[in-house]
Amino acid sequence: MLYEGARLISGDASAPIDRSAFLVEDGRFTRVGRQGDLQPPVGTARVDLTGKTVMPALIDAHSHIGYMKGLTSGPRNYTRENILDHMHRFAYFGVAVSQAMGSDFGELPFQLREELRAGTDPDAARFLTAGRGLAPLEEISPTNMRHAAYVVTTVEGARADVQELAQRGVPLIKMWVDTRGGTVKTLTPDLYGAILDEAHKHRMRVAVHATGLADAKQLLRAGIDVFGHMISDVDDELVELFKQHPNTSILLALSAPRRVVSAPWINPPHPLIVETISPAQIKRLQDRLAGQSAAEAAQARQAWDRLARGVRILSAAGVKIGVGTDGGGQTGDQFVGWTMHAELENMVVAGMTPAQVLVAATRNSAEILGLDDLGLVAPSRSADFVVLDANPLDDITNTRRIARVFLRGREVDRGKLRAGWASGATSN
Ligand SMILES: [Zn+2]
Repeated sequence: MLYEGARLISGDASAPIDRSAFLVEDGRFTRVGRQGDLQPPVGTARVDLTGKTVMPALIDAHSHIGYMKGLTSGPRNYTRENILDHMHRFAYFGVAVSQAMGSDFGELPFQLREELRAGTDPDAARFLTAGRGLAPLEEISPTNMRHAAYVVTTVEGARADVQELAQRGVPLIKMWVDTRGGTVKTLTPDLYGAILDEAHKHRMRVAVHATGLADAKQLLRAGIDVFGHMISDVDDELVELFKQHPNTSILLALSAPRRVVSAPWINPPHPLIVETISPAQIKRLQDRLAGQSAAEAAQARQAWDRLARGVRILSAAGVKIGVGTDGGGQTGDQFVGWTMHAELENMVVAGMTPAQVLVAATRNSAEILGLDDLGLVAPSRSADFVVLDANPLDDITNTRRIARVFLRGREVDRGKLRAGWASGATSN
């Protein structure tokens, strides 16, 4: 199939091709170029995308899948049906793959990882799992996302846990190193050092939940691969450490800190939210935001300004930034799928350009997750792409103007998914 006429954003930071043509064969891009230059084999069917913009399908490198369902959230919702519903939501929003960060448990995530990788459900995004995360005892409670985490108390135990994850074929694992404002006794450098060492021996990479500046510096020195959140403060020494560790990347996860400062998409709710989220859930978020005190709002604004300043510094320093939404977490306000588009806007509001943000959400996030099959519209890559009605380089919120989504060369049946949610067959 030849798709021609669209403005093409390939994901590799090059200038867009104004009138492009690309050929998809057996679920892959095989040729990419300018309309007219690219001569397809005789008999190739053509799709006219004149006036549209095409970009690679988006990649969410940090989420928590299977917990949210309607107004509830927790391990009891973690079923095959609910995980599949979430993967349908990602596909609906143009997301090709989402990486669950340490909140999975049991056999289910590994089964679904294989099924969805094979493309058995053409309307579902791929599901990547970090398996069970690694956490200190005080981070774990029966109802939170870390209920099934490995409890790390000794170096030997930490190494054994990592070995178990290695046997499950998990390329990226997750650990928590956060004192939560001094309330939690977190992992000490000898414990997370053992996790890093054992993981690297098995050629696995390690993502960390860490937001404190001092912890972040120690983790960089210890060889951390991925930060799952923006660091709460940034100074020259941190920037220098990032420069010394050019393979260390950071996902910003700005949705939670930004939402409490400004969420213009909920009042009134964006049409994509109305199509996918129940009125009760929308109202709950509207009420929560309206219920903030002036003091809380001022504090949130301060925290956001500090984060945004840090984002600008890290971006200017050339640190590799990917996109992680942290969506699907416990508060229930992180609407699965929508979070991606809110996050792209958050990154621009923080000071990145739309072009930088689109590269972060495609090529960079693919590299961070080790996916050499995704993230670009380029020959030999899987044909995962989004057709938009407007150009996101002009205005990042144009990523929401989704006309069509293709995963593995097949169009996602967004109408069918939408009808299912409207009928209440599944709710989220
Ligand atoms: Zn998270």
